Amino acid sequence: MNIRIGQGYDIHRLVEGRPFILGGYSIPSDKGCDAHSDGDVLIHALIDSLLGALALGDIGSHFPPSDMKWKDADSGKLLIHVLSLIKEQGWETVNIDTTVILEAPKLRPHIDRIRSSLAELCQLPLECVSVKAKTKEKQDAAGQGLAVEAQAIALIKKV
Ligand code: MG
Repeated sequence: MNIRIGQGYDIHRLVEGRPFILGGYSIPSDKGCDAHSDGDVLIHALIDSLLGALALGDIGSHFPPSDMKWKDADSGKLLIHVLSLIKEQGWETVNIDTTVILEAPKLRPHIDRIRSSLAELCQLPLECVSVKAKTKEKQDAAGQGLAVEAQAIALIKKV
């Protein structure tokens, strides 16, 4: 088998006075993710999808919240670390597809910058990096603006 697929999911509470970083790109917003790290929910979901593709565990097992080393960590660095693990095992990413679910701010004006940021981190062509945005129709925490969710799927191939 020369291809593998993985999926990832993450959710963070949105609170006032925190930076709102998605895919390594900082979005102007009065709220951001409450988290041990920089709270980049999109990169966290993506990391879990990449680890999942090779059954390498999850983000918590690689970067435990109890480890002060990762306090306010730049999630882009965690992603680069995970990509290097995959590369060491002889695999490379083919494409990634992601969805961010939140009520506000509207992501559409920022989507291309988020995609570019992820493409650069993953060293993928832009056309292999998809970022989609959804609202949750005012339902549950994400719909009420209290949280942001992200889902990701990654396809990898044997080099
Ligand atoms: Mg997270």
